[in-house]
Parts: sequence; structure tokens; C-alpha cells
Amino acid sequence: SARCPPPPMAEAAMAARVPPDEDRDECLTQYRHLLSPDLLAGQVAFITGGGSGIGFRIAEIFMRHGCRTVIASRNLQRVLEASKKLVAATGQQCLPLSIDVRQPQTIAAAVDEALKEFQRIDILINGAAGNFLCPASALSFNAFKTVIDIDTVGTFNTSKVLFEKYFRDHGGVIVNITATLSYRGQALQVHAGAAKAAIDAMTRHLAVEWGPNNIRVNSLAPGPIMGTEGFRRLGGKFAEKSDLFSVIPLQRAGNKTEIAHSTLYLASPLSSYVTGTTLIVDGGSWLTSPNSFSALLGIASSSAK
Ligand code: NAP
Repeated sequence: SARCPPPPMAEAAMAARVPPDEDRDECLTQYRHLLSPDLLAGQVAFITGGGSGIGFRIAEIFMRHGCRTVIASRNLQRVLEASKKLVAATGQQCLPLSIDVRQPQTIAAAVDEALKEFQRIDILINGAAGNFLCPASALSFNAFKTVIDIDTVGTFNTSKVLFEKYFRDHGGVIVNITATLSYRGQALQVHAGAAKAAIDAMTRHLAVEWGPNNIRVNSLAPGPIMGTEGFRRLGGKFAEKSDLFSVIPLQRAGNKTEIAHSTLYLASPLSSYVTGTTLIVDGGSWLTSPNSFSALLGIASSSAK
């Protein structure tokens, strides 16, 4: 029979290669373009939560593809320092601004400033979020509400301000960073899971309403991503203690560069006919990972110390 010879073992299949990443909020020391370096040339992206973790790497990868960025979160010092690193590594412009996504007037002021600086905004990444592990029985009414306020209401506030100030008349692309938590009712995550599920719903509603304005709206749901505050706080200890990675189909956690690459796809003209969908970027994790209430309770109590 005409069977194909097996591929040489020394070299991993191109499609299975993992792009390099840095653990902390530092830029990549090496980067090889898989896509054209001018994929986002001339464009401007407004990235909430762009001063740290996944948002920081999204800003870097976008800038490495010709994009100018606005990175916005509460802590001005954090975004200022991040912008210096991003500019030094990529040679692109980056405007750091302070906003609280719970306060629409702070978003409006930041968008005005961004438009004054760059005259355009093409892409909105809603990455700002807050999370922690806590059983529903111990979660205060206020803690639940705070997570909904930052994640869900914050995503609506920012999307609406961008719509009114620019996207309605010029079109645009929105990528909401969500999570897979609600798919199986992840233990100790009712607040974040509910908040992110509502954002996935919002993605579909806004994709329908704003499609005629040439605005695409999609969600990206990361799995466990190394080198992030979220992973250190929520997953790190669990991953060390258990064989969590071996049950993930791809046998490992993801990295921030991989999330940034998938976000680049959704934000760029590569996905010009994609709207109203959620792209899961989790190595198949949610399909197979354990959802053990008692094991997670052990981590919640040890990480609170
Ligand atoms: P992170 O570094 O803690 O990022 C969260 C960002 O949100 C911070 O930069 C923070 O900056 C900003 N932020 C928080 N509250 C805000 C507010 N009220 N207004 C404006 N900005 C605010 O966490 P990450 O792990 O990289 O997560 C990034 C995104 O990916 C989040 O949406 C998260 O839910 C999602 N995600 C992460 C993982 C993971 O494994 N890490 C998995 C699934 C989904 P300030 O403190 O300066 O405001």
C-alpha cells in the first residue's frame, strides 16, 4: 500500500511550533514574523488592559505589524512604563492613558486624546478584567458586582464610547477577551464566568447591530496562559500540583504570544468576513480539564495567604 513515510522526528511540524514568549511584562527578545510585518500598517489600536499580561503582548505584536497603539488602564505608571518598553522594542508609537472602564467619562476623555494624537482608531481590544478564585458561598455581593462592572459593563462602556466617537462613521474592529470558564461551570469562578459569558452574548448582539456600520465584533477566549498575573494567581499552583497539563490535548499551557497571534488574526483583514463569533484559544483545554471543586478550594485557600 502507498503509505506516506513518517516525518523526520528531529523537527517538529511547522504548525505545531510554539512561538517564543517572555514570562514577565517584557518585550520579546526575538521575534520571527509569520505574517507580513505591514499587516496593520497605518492602523491604530486602542487596547484596554494593555499595560500588562496578555494585553501588553497584544500591543507588542500589533506594533511589530505596523500598528500604533493606545494602552489604557487605571494605573498610569504601569502603562507609562509599558509604553516605553513597547516603543523601544518596536519603533512604533504608543500612547499610554489612564482610564477606569467603569467610568465612561474617563474612557471618553482617553478616546478624545487618542483621536487628537492619531486622528483615527481602527481596532478596539477589550482586555481589562479582574479575577480571583472564590467559592460563591464566600463571595461578597460587592465582589460579584465589581467583576461584572469591570469585565461586562466595562466592555460595553468602552465599545459604546468608541462607536459614538469614531466607529459609527468609519467602521472598525472589536475583539473582546473572554474565557472558557462558563462552558462547564468552572468551580470558584461564578463571578468571572458569568461576566465573560455576558460579554460573549454582547459580542453577538453588537455584531448584528453594528455590522451595517462595517464594524466586526468577535470574542477571543484564552485557556490557561503562562506568564500572566491571572495564571500565577489562578492556575500556577494547581498546574504544579496536578497533572493538569497532561490532560490538555496539546499537553501544555499557552503563551501570551499565541494569544496575541490569534488576536492579530481577528483584528486584521485576514478575518474580514468573521463577525459575532468566539475564537477559543486553549489547546483544547476546556474539553478535557478536570473541574474539581475540592481541589480548587485547596488552591483558593493557599493562594489567599
Ligand atoms: P492582567 O495582567 O491582570 O490584566 C488585566 C488588566 O486589566 C490590567 O492591565 C489592569 O490594569 C486592567 N484593569 C483592571 N481593572 C480595570 C479597570 N477598572 N479599568 C481599566 N483597566 C483595568 O491579566 P491577564 O491574565 O493578562 O488577562 C488579560 C485578559 O485575558 C483578561 O480579560 C482575562 O480575563 C483574560 N484571560 C486570561 C487568562 C490567563 O490565563 N491569564 C485566561 C483566560 C482569560 P490596571 O490595574 O492598571 O487597571
